[in-house]
Amino acid sequence: MITQAEWKIMEIVWANPRIDALTIHKNLDTSLKWSISTVKTLISRLVKKNCLNIEKIGKTFFYSANLNKDDIIYQKIDSIFDLVCNTKQAELIRYILEISKMNKSDIRNIITKLQNLELTAPDIIKCNCNKGQCLCKPLMKNNESNN
Ligand SMILES: [Zn+2]
Repeated sequence: MITQAEWKIMEIVWANPRIDALTIHKNLDTSLKWSISTVKTLISRLVKKNCLNIEKIGKTFFYSANLNKDDIIYQKIDSIFDLVCNTKQAELIRYILEISKMNKSDIRNIITKLQNLELTAPDIIKCNCNKGQCLCKPLMKNNESNN
């Protein structure tokens, strides 16, 4: 897992591949007020976690990201969906749609995607909660009484 502090370093490296520690430090949001030694500590943690590659040119170390930013974000989304019962995932998507910044073309693309998914979607999604940890079944009853 990448911490929030490490994420700030990764964002700079993603935007500027083959960057040295001093330049990372210069590119940091000034409100952070991190010292160069803090930056170097975070870099060494990211190297240990195999998130950054090192290349030595002369006396300077240059860093590149070993991970794709999108892959990490998709992994985070996967891990959030793993926390939610199959029967509640559509609600989560409705929430994501509400909070997302989309233009008309984005919305049309999502509508097309949904129309394609509808062709093969099952009529019923089964609960996959662990026994004794299920919160979705009482909610399903509420939904039924509303219909
Ligand atoms: Zn469930």
